[in-house]
Amino acid sequence: MARYLDSKCRLCRREGTKLFLKGERCFSDKCAIERRNYIPGQHGQRRRKVSDYGLHLREKQKVKRVYGLMEGQFRNCFEDAERMPGVTGENLLILLERRLDNVVFRLGFSSSRVEARQIVSHGQVLVNGRKVNIPSYLVKPGDAVAMTSRARDHVRVRGALESAMRRGVPSWLEVDSEKVSGVFRALPARADLPSDFNENLIVELYSK
Ligand code: SF4
Repeated sequence: MARYLDSKCRLCRREGTKLFLKGERCFSDKCAIERRNYIPGQHGQRRRKVSDYGLHLREKQKVKRVYGLMEGQFRNCFEDAERMPGVTGENLLILLERRLDNVVFRLGFSSSRVEARQIVSHGQVLVNGRKVNIPSYLVKPGDAVAMTSRARDHVRVRGALESAMRRGVPSWLEVDSEKVSGVFRALPARADLPSDFNENLIVELYSK
């Protein structure tokens, strides 16, 4: 499967905002957005007018990059959101939040979604006691997510969990830091999700 392998900080600089793609570094003064908050490339510091289409495109790119999806995966997710009852934009964000790699990251078992994806595909995550190695697996309310007994004491997992506990875990999740396990208690409400996402722009972009 295709993966983005170039610099992650370039993505944040392109979007002009922190996308939190690199774990602890994102919270330090080494963050590229703190140091060089302009578009990468030779003409990055030029002032440019953003078209209406550009505005919609940038919002889609931002959300897609935060969750670490490629275009095809994101589009499929959008189409699934469209088929669901309710508001498409909100459905899209909820579907993205339900992905197993995202849940592992949100529970604090990894320092980034990229690391979470690796942990999942290496078979180190259990859902309701069964090994699941599909990062796009959709977690349901009430599902228990835990690290395998071999992976739970890994120094990276413990370190990530410690930092996550300091920052706090989202209200729709419950974490047992001793057992390195958690429960996806309920679907998040729109108010719980990042307020700097404008999902309506994404819906409008794909409807054009
Ligand atoms: Fe983005 Fe993190 Fe790099 Fe900062 S350190 S630019 S938030 S990936």
